[in-house]
Order: sequence, then structure tokens, then C-alpha cells
Amino acid sequence: ADALEPLLAVVGADLRAPLVGGDEVRYANLDYAASAPSLAAVADHLTDVLPFYASVHRGAGYASQISTSLYENARGTVRRFVRARPDDAVVFTRNTTDSLNLLAGCVPAGSEVLYLDIEHHANLLPWQARPHRSVVAAPSLAETLERVRISLSDGGVGLLAVTGASNVTGEVLPIAELAAIAHEHGARIVVDAAQLAPHRRIDMAAAGTSGEIDYLAFSGHKLYAPFGSGVLVGRADWLDAGTPHLAGGGAVREVRLDAVTWADGPARHEAGSPNVLGAATLARAAEVLGSLDEAAWQRHEQQLRAALLEGLAEIDGVTVHRLFDDSKEAIGVVNFSVAGHDAGLVAACLSAEHGVGLRDGRFCAHPLLKRLGLPSGSLRASFGVGSRLEDVERLVAGVRGLVEDGLGIDYAVDAGRWVP
Ligand code: PMP
Repeated sequence: ADALEPLLAVVGADLRAPLVGGDEVRYANLDYAASAPSLAAVADHLTDVLPFYASVHRGAGYASQISTSLYENARGTVRRFVRARPDDAVVFTRNTTDSLNLLAGCVPAGSEVLYLDIEHHANLLPWQARPHRSVVAAPSLAETLERVRISLSDGGVGLLAVTGASNVTGEVLPIAELAAIAHEHGARIVVDAAQLAPHRRIDMAAAGTSGEIDYLAFSGHKLYAPFGSGVLVGRADWLDAGTPHLAGGGAVREVRLDAVTWADGPARHEAGSPNVLGAATLARAAEVLGSLDEAAWQRHEQQLRAALLEGLAEIDGVTVHRLFDDSKEAIGVVNFSVAGHDAGLVAACLSAEHGVGLRDGRFCAHPLLKRLGLPSGSLRASFGVGSRLEDVERLVAGVRGLVEDGLGIDYAVDAGRWVP
């Protein structure tokens, strides 16, 4: 049982949640996949670096120099965290959505982008706005890979866009295999690692095999750091030739009154004063996760996942949803429905009566939820290094209670408090 205590300390672990009726309970945060709480080590780092808050790249003063080196060193930390190639660019962005939109402006003209129907809207809408094709995933991973292969074999696809792990079900995609298939057909691959990076070691360079990841995007706020920072890592040629993501100061080599020569490298896409604290905290989180004992990390997550799946399996009317009948791996995300109960009301009841926070809805994946036959949504519990067995047990007990006793929904929320 000791192994199911938190693996790392996170901020907010002792938060008290108000219950309907006036009691309070320790908040069981099972919504890590939306935004994970900051690591305590990240919060400490933020406190340490806050005094050096200053303009990056533009000032000669002491604080500016420190801020600039924090910001630039953060690129190196990210590079090591994802095992990027030495000549890959590391561009800081606002989040995964921003990173993928940035890349969409850099895909060579005339190249189509191919994506699956399982994607988060962030890895679908940027491509939909340009030449694209899509593939509906099959019930098995093996058949899905075959469909991707067939679509690529027509030619014309320059980029395969795929998630590393589903934000809906947590299933992990076989990225190295997908990369090899893309490369066989002359396409590159971008991996949306918003969900994968907080849960698994990533090896972009994949020891020089054909399974290399060309581009990778993820967000700080899902990686146990605060909001406002993300990264796009990948091959510099497209990024250096692409449309600058934002027009403005810092992204230029030379400006004349009616013309500009844009900079190369990450600066090209980082106009405006950058989020130095966001980059520094994201990097600190990457450093801490990168130094975790991998076996302990995975054991912690899989034990929580197994406990949740076992608990839910014993409750009548609970269905756990998955994408593929042959997927072997999943991160700390479990998606389920309770027969006869609206997902939004179940989530409200779990919050109001049990202090459990999870996500309900369509998870920014409308095409997938429609295909899964869940047009009005389902429930998602997600957890990570700060999670405890007790959180999962409270969720299971809450679901069992509402199946046995029905929903007590005669209350509303008023200024963050449940009122009967
Ligand atoms: N992709 C996936 C798989 C996600 O889970 C999310 C966040 N839910 C995103 C992209 C978008 O991340 P962000 O909101 O940080 O841009």
C-alpha cells in the first residue's frame, strides 16, 4: 500500500472541498488530464526565480541576464527530457494548441496532413484549415495502422499528426510504428504529447531508427507546471521556412518601414516578451519527471489504474470505454459511463457529495465521442504522481452509492459552495 501514496509532492494535495450540507473533505483531484497540479519542486523553483523576473534577451542588467539564461537553459532541459536530436529546434509556446497551430503554418505548401478521428480538437482543427485527409480508426490498433498505411500510400501526405496517448481513454498509441509507416511513405510525424509527456519517457531520436519523432508538442500545465507555457520541438528546416507564428519584436533580423527579414531558429516564432517563468517552471517539471525512477513511476500509475478498473467493474451499469480491443498500454486516464445517468449530473454528484473532481463531457473530441456512441458525453477520471489510492477508492464508493441510491441532485452551486 505504501507504493500507492503520492510519488511526488504536489501543490494543493491537502485542499479541502466543500460538500453539500456544509461538511468538508480533502479534495480528491481526479482531473489531472485537464491540468495537473504543480509539483512542490516546481512551486519552490518559481519562488526562487521570481525575483529575477525581467525582460529576456533585451536587457543588459543583472536580472535580465539571469532571466535570459533561465529561459535559454530551459530549452536544453526540454531537449534532454524528450531526447531530441542536437539540431532540433525547441520553441516555447503558450500550450499544445499553440504549438500545433504554429506547426500548421510551417508545413510545406501542397503537402497534405493526415490525422485520425481519435484526436483532440487541438490536433485536428489546425489541420482541417489546410489541405488534409482523415482516417477513421478501426476497432483494433493493427487494422488502424493498416488504414493509415493505405491512406499514406496514395502519396501527397507530408505530415501524419497523431496523439501519443488518448485524452479520452488514456490508451497509448504505437508511436514508433506510426513514425516508421509515415517515414516509409515520405511523410513526417508530429506527436501530440499533451497526455503522453506527463506519463511516459519519450525518445524523439529513437536511437536513429525510422521510428524517430519529427515534431512533438506538449503543455506545461499538464506536466505539473503552471499555465501559460508549452513547447514545440522538432526539425528546424520547416520551422525556419514557415510563416512566423506571431509578427512582432524579437522575431526579426531587420525591419524596414514596409518590409521585414524574419529571424531563423526559435526566435522566428517567439515574437513579444516571452513567458520566462512559464519556460523555467515547465523545464523544472521536466527535470524532476526525468529523474524519477521509471519502474516506480509506472508501477504507481498502473496500480491506481488497476484499482479503479477493478472497482468500477464490480458496479452494475458501469461501462469503461476504450478505443482499441488490442491496445496494451494506457496512462492514468479511465473513461466510463453509468447506465441511465447523465454524465454531467454524475460528475456534479461526485463533487458535491464526495469531494471528487473529474471531467465529464466530450473531451474536445467530438468526432470520436460520436463514433463511440456517446454524443452527450461520458466521464473521465485521471491521475498522476500526486494521486493516492484513497482518491480512487472515494470515486468508486461514490459511483457505487449513486448507482444503489440514485442521484441526490437537489442542490446548486453558489460562489464555489454547494447549496441544498
Ligand atoms: N491534445 C491533447 C491530447 C490534450 O489532452 C489537450 C488538452 N486537453 C490538448 C491537446 C490541448 O492542450 P492545451 O489546452 O494545453 O493547449
